Amino acid sequence: MEPTVVLRPGRDKSVRRWHPWIFSGGVAEVRGNPGPGDTVRVVSAQGEALGAGAYSPDSQLRVRMWTFDPDTVIDELFVARRVVESAQRRQRMYADSDSVRLVFSEADGVPGVIADRYGEFVVVQLGSAGAERWRDVVADALMSIEGVGCVYERSDIDAREREGLSARTGVLRGDTPPAETIIGERIDGRAYRFAVGFTEGQKTGFYLDQRHARAAIARVAAGRRVLNAFSYTGAFSVIAAANGAASVTSLDSSGPALVGARRNAEINDVEVGEQIEGDAFAELRTLRDRARSYDLILLDPPKLAQTEAQVDRAARAYKDLNLLAAKLLAPGGILMTFSCSGGMSPDLFQKVVAGAALDARRNLRIIGRLDQPGDHPVPLSFPEAAYLKGLVLEAE
Ligand code: SAH
Repeated sequence: MEPTVVLRPGRDKSVRRWHPWIFSGGVAEVRGNPGPGDTVRVVSAQGEALGAGAYSPDSQLRVRMWTFDPDTVIDELFVARRVVESAQRRQRMYADSDSVRLVFSEADGVPGVIADRYGEFVVVQLGSAGAERWRDVVADALMSIEGVGCVYERSDIDAREREGLSARTGVLRGDTPPAETIIGERIDGRAYRFAVGFTEGQKTGFYLDQRHARAAIARVAAGRRVLNAFSYTGAFSVIAAANGAASVTSLDSSGPALVGARRNAEINDVEVGEQIEGDAFAELRTLRDRARSYDLILLDPPKLAQTEAQVDRAARAYKDLNLLAAKLLAPGGILMTFSCSGGMSPDLFQKVVAGAALDARRNLRIIGRLDQPGDHPVPLSFPEAAYLKGLVLEAE
């Protein structure tokens, strides 16, 4: 008999609504001594079968559901099919790009598995015991996708620690990748190229989730003095420069990211512009003290709240950044401001930005929103998948 997790009374409600997470506090009893990543049957306090999930003994997030159908068997075929079907859904999504998120974890029914495609390369992150357990099946499934020549693992994320897993990186299938691969994205018929060093870069190497923002920047950059704060490898900067920005300043605390931005300027044949290496909180203050002014400010900080508990502190940091940005914004200027902290709701983010604008005595209007694109889907039953929020604000 398969190991079984029995829920506490009332803790079956979210599972019945197809929510994939069961926390340790919801578990009444574990039968059959499951190990990390093992499949467990999940039953209600009354003994009704609710489905099956992956067991994570070391995590607060004790079970991630694979299925809500009690009769479905979780085997190699099941996992491989989930991965391949997810990749197939992406196939026709972006005709204008060779890069796309193929698998987005719970949102695609493959908890803990993130897979990003950069041309012929697939970079995979395994972030849970269940994902780890099926590593070979996931790798084979990704390798079987047409045109894929290499599956590379970048499982060096914090989430693994909470699962009791150590970091792992390296080739899983296929050839050893080069230090850099060049991806292509077309926006309004114009081609851009970006160097992605996914063996070294942040996350899986490129912020695929900012696709909508890149398109929005291309459309408004002309003639504007642009400040790209938290620029990483300068994707936003390149697009602004290529679309006639009057000037572009890129600011990031990472030296290698700024080197990447110079490389991206070079391969797109645009001026790299001013680069500032430093802490944005301090550098934005310096720019303000120098009375600098910009017509387009891009503010895309890293996840400032890692957990729900950090949201209050993060809110203060977001306010600080947005206050400085509001002060640096010229009359008629546009501020594109983002939060990728899942714990911060769109409502709260908007309130924080509103507070910042008020403190800066600037009247800002929302003229657009820039959320995560469709290769980062949000199941209606799993709203937690929505993490990226962006406001496009126009100053009076
Ligand atoms: N907009 C970028 C992605 C930004 S990721 C893109 O589309 O490619 C966030 C960036 O913030 C990273 O490059 C990281 O190096 C940088 N960063 C993190 N903390 C910082 C800080 N305190 N000051 C400046 N940059 C910081």
